[in-house]
Amino acid sequence: MERIPRVAIVGAGPAGLFAAGLLARADADVAIDILDRLPTPFGLLRYGVAPDHASIKAVADKLADAFESPRVRFCGLVEIGTQVTPAELLGCYDAVVYAIGAALDRRLGIPGEELPGSRSAREFVSWYSGHPDAVAHELAHVTSAVVVGVGNVAVDVARILLKDPAELHATDMPDAVLAELQATNVRDVWLVGRRGPADAAFSTAELRELLGLDGLGVVYERGELPADTTGLDRRARNNVDAIAAALAEERPSPLRRLHLLFQHRPVAILGEGRVASVEFESTVDGSRFEVPADLVLRSIGYYGVPLPGVPFVDGRIPNVEGRVHDVDGTLRPGEYAVGWIKRGPVGLIGANKSDATETVRHLLEDLAVAPARPLGDPDELLAARGVRPSTLDDWRRIDDAEIGRGTLRGRERTKIEAWHDLLDLVFGR
Ligand code: NAP
Repeated sequence: MERIPRVAIVGAGPAGLFAAGLLARADADVAIDILDRLPTPFGLLRYGVAPDHASIKAVADKLADAFESPRVRFCGLVEIGTQVTPAELLGCYDAVVYAIGAALDRRLGIPGEELPGSRSAREFVSWYSGHPDAVAHELAHVTSAVVVGVGNVAVDVARILLKDPAELHATDMPDAVLAELQATNVRDVWLVGRRGPADAAFSTAELRELLGLDGLGVVYERGELPADTTGLDRRARNNVDAIAAALAEERPSPLRRLHLLFQHRPVAILGEGRVASVEFESTVDGSRFEVPADLVLRSIGYYGVPLPGVPFVDGRIPNVEGRVHDVDGTLRPGEYAVGWIKRGPVGLIGANKSDATETVRHLLEDLAVAPARPLGDPDELLAARGVRPSTLDDWRRIDDAEIGRGTLRGRERTKIEAWHDLLDLVFGR
């Protein structure tokens, strides 16, 4: 191949940026365009990692290394699937890497799931993280909340609801979000798992952080912790021990309470016009009971979004070690997947590193032997669609503005959450 091969990475989240960094550092000369529908890189690191987990957010500095390479371009405000199809992209790049994550939610499939006051945890996280598409939550009337699911996202949202809002002041949450959280009157949060505590998906460190919140009482509802933890794996044992330790502590007059309910699944979300309670069924004996709730957050896992013309099975793009395949198993040359759209919505940020390494290795192997084919010009394609991509400099202007906002409030950063403010910073150049 005479010209430098071109690779498009769709999605500037951790998976896409790890892949970009690996490609930028590879021996082969490759030009890399990272396309994202937002003008801001970092995906779930920016809009998913909890604002009070600043140390995880520091990974952004490492991921941003990819941008230091002259081989890499950031093209924000480009939406693949609506403005440009994946097939058109393949006409302009030797390889396309789908790194689009999992931007939807799994469904409970029970009556009342759509009642006002019942939202997915993902939506709640997007809101408190200042995602420009997020719909605001009104929390002033909320005293009791139910969180369905016992993974780390469930623990995050329970913690944000139960934490003293004064402790959130130092975070990068938008002003309106902080004000709403300050206005809440949450007294009770129910965290509900359909299996037992030993089968919960949360990590022990996150669980301990939740159980250790100031002023929190912990109640173990309907059942008993396993007394004998021998035979459990380390994480399960540590989780059960952490709960037992919290229950054993004297915590007089708690301001707020965390109710741990295991071996129950929701069968209906009830209320006239808005959520008032959740009916649960025991997965042990089938008995039912209701928990009053003004807010229900469904935290049962994320789900991928299909791209037009790209195979999609069970929330993922079918692939073998990152090489995309059709549903019938036929290889689709030039198409790759990385991150949650490749392997499903599980794993910490760091898991994307080995994941990206595998995909990029195959991509480079394939590029080395791919027959040259004529390619269109991606910039011309975007211009023909009236798309004017935002650049890395535009992101840096947003970044500076957020840091400036934060400085005025005595914090490191305050997120800019309104589309019009982001676009002003991009196009007001
Ligand atoms: P997750 O870890 O897969 O947990 C999903 C939870 O939903 C599980 O408890 C699961 O129970 C439950 N669930 C699924 N379907 C259900 C149903 N129909 N009814 C009731 N419960 C149901 O997913 P996640 O919490 O969304 O987290 C996604 C990934 O991000 C995880 O790998 C997580 O560790 C990671 N993450 C990490 C952090 C952190 O490190 N601080 C923070 C956030 C997210 P079953 O096990 O019974 O299926």
